[in-house]
Amino acid sequence: MSNKPDAFLRCEGCKKVLFSKEFVKNLRVCPNCGHHYRLSADERIEITFDEGSFVELDADMKSEDPLQFPEYAEKLARGFASTGRNDSVVRGMAKLGGFPVSAAVADFRFMGGSMGSVAGEKITRTLETAIDERIPAVIFTATGGARMQEGLLSLMQMAKTSAACRKAYDAGVPYICVFTDPTMAGVLASYASLADVILAEPKALVGFAGARVAAQASGGQKLPDNFQTSEFAYEHGMIDAVVQRKDVRATLINLVTHFTGGKHG
Ligand SMILES: [Zn+2]
Repeated sequence: MSNKPDAFLRCEGCKKVLFSKEFVKNLRVCPNCGHHYRLSADERIEITFDEGSFVELDADMKSEDPLQFPEYAEKLARGFASTGRNDSVVRGMAKLGGFPVSAAVADFRFMGGSMGSVAGEKITRTLETAIDERIPAVIFTATGGARMQEGLLSLMQMAKTSAACRKAYDAGVPYICVFTDPTMAGVLASYASLADVILAEPKALVGFAGARVAAQASGGQKLPDNFQTSEFAYEHGMIDAVVQRKDVRATLINLVTHFTGGKHG
């Protein structure tokens, strides 16, 4: 068995056959239909921040499985096996166009990017570092929501991260959040929605309850076709801009330059 990646793949969006090399060079966006594929945290870091500037913090932080929830330990182990990380959020210091930022990036492959106590703590620390250093916070979401295996401890992260957002707001420290596919439930309903500027990649799933539950709760009404997409959230004023992946880095540099008055550090 060879570990060499396949030379071709079929696009999930338009079913066209793509050259793998061209696809990777295009930041894992289909050159034909514009379908934005999910990125790992490492891929995201690589295409977003200044080359080699990301320095990870709190990489050793691990969940204790406080409820001894059935199969949780196995799921954590599987998340580690597929990402090489101890949890779904990677945080650290980075630079954008030379400007230092406190950054966090979620990896959907780790238990669906879910937020338990480790992810919540890392997001909180990302905002606290931004406050301490008086630099912007930049967070990328990719999550199904809170992590049910940690029960109330996981739900508590919603309040904790929200309080950290308020502290950043009071301190006058800018916080930018970029929604990627998907940004759902307990994360959307806490720190993700509380950013000063919210960007989203095209056609990312953005919502609280899933479409089926939303349809049931609205008495079986037909939902709009683009329900729970970035575009729908933008049209309804919930986010500030839908940004193509190729433009995310430049947009963030613009924002950070604006917020810092163009002064490094
Ligand atoms: Zn396509």
